[in-house]
Amino acid sequence: MKLVLATRNRKKMEEIQRILALAEGQLLSLDDFSACPDVVEDGVTFADNADKKALSVAVFTGLHALADDSGLVVDALDGAPGVYSARYAGAGASDAQNVSKLLQELAARPQAPRSARFECVLSLASPQGVRSRFRGTVEGRIATEPQGHNGFGYDPIFIPEGFDLSFACMDAAAKDSMSHRGRALAALAREINNFFVIKNVSMQVP
Ligand code: IMP
Repeated sequence: MKLVLATRNRKKMEEIQRILALAEGQLLSLDDFSACPDVVEDGVTFADNADKKALSVAVFTGLHALADDSGLVVDALDGAPGVYSARYAGAGASDAQNVSKLLQELAARPQAPRSARFECVLSLASPQGVRSRFRGTVEGRIATEPQGHNGFGYDPIFIPEGFDLSFACMDAAAKDSMSHRGRALAALAREINNFFVIKNVSMQVP
């Protein structure tokens, strides 16, 4: 059985491949299906977008597909950037521009709490429809300035609960062991291990 990863985000792809660690040849990517059309992410929830991406790739490829929709939810900003995390500072914005806009918004609210969480919804679809969804969340707070160079997106300003360092200061294994994506993938792995050979047995189950 083969699974296609329904994302063109290189960093997400690397994380999912690393965490899920399926046996050779079981995990395909959109690089294997370059004609697969891009999906417009116009859902209002992470689940809407994850379902749409997974189903579209499953129908196109005729295989099972796995999509991740994820983002940062900041309490003081009423949940923003949320589903707009990738384009918070505008279409095509870089990670640095998104981070900078978020820090400016919080600087304009000096009394507001800096609590936040990363959320991830994974949707698993077959060409017949969405089969299941898996969720993962990690609570934390927003730093006052970027720290560290690992990871991607908002990692330099997200400090997980119980730590003083941002995700971007941690190595991949430390982030994976507590991240929203790591947790959602652990739930997925429990569900699919009858069909796929999962090599990674060190994944921490929430
Ligand atoms: P999506 O491709 O629409 O799901 O956009 C996800 C966006 O959320 C990314 O482009 C990042 O800005 C942010 N994001 C999601 N997961 C992470 C993470 O693990 N670290 C940092 N930023 C993330």
